[in-house]
Amino acid sequence: MDSQTDTTLTPEQHRLKMQRRKEVQEQRVAKASQTKGLIIVHTGNGKGKTTAALGMVMRSLGHGYRVAIVQFIKGAWEPAEKAVFSRWSDQLEFHAMGEGFTWETQNRDRDIAKAQQAWEMALSFIRNTEYKLVLLDEINVVIKLGYLSVETVLAGLAEKPEDTHIILTGRGAPEALIERADLVTEMTLVKHPFREQGVKAQPGIEY
Ligand code: ATP
Ligand code: MG
Repeated sequence: MDSQTDTTLTPEQHRLKMQRRKEVQEQRVAKASQTKGLIIVHTGNGKGKTTAALGMVMRSLGHGYRVAIVQFIKGAWEPAEKAVFSRWSDQLEFHAMGEGFTWETQNRDRDIAKAQQAWEMALSFIRNTEYKLVLLDEINVVIKLGYLSVETVLAGLAEKPEDTHIILTGRGAPEALIERADLVTEMTLVKHPFREQGVKAQPGIEY
């Protein structure tokens, strides 16, 4: 049972327990005073990898930071996000580089060239100290497809300025990237309405 709802405690015992917990928490916060530019990975088969990254984009914009987004694979999320982001154009660079990938083009060499182009664009933002957050959306998928090597990506991440945060999203993040990252979240698929009920992508939820 969660100790917070432990009904066997008297009100005074509960108060003392909560007081001790507060002290421990305050000590932890006091110790964790350093800041650090993070390498963040959102992977796994559950929904939420890109949207969680966009949440951090929103927070960063709210703090007045400059942000860059490089989209490696074209998603369904163009119209709504683009409209919102266009209002932040003084702080935000948004580049959708994954136009017509793989199954549409069926041309591997062209896809590799496109992935390289997107990566060069990403590198220019990673190296630029003016950008506090760089979101590389779906880059993990591009690595998994073999269009970009994990070694190349790790070498690029090594060039990031100390204070810059970089988020890499997409299913199947390679082990070497997970090892290198500071913050890794694996979205777990429990239910998805498309799978169980055949519900199609909906505005506000998927794009
Ligand atoms: P989101 O952009 O909603 O955060 P995501 O980035 O975690 O999703 P992607 O792998 O990029 O997921 O997939 C993009 C799209 O596929 C989203 O519209 C999402 O709703 C849908 N999707 C994600 N997981 C599943 C699933 N298990 N089955 C069917 N569709 C899915
Ligand atoms: Mg995504």
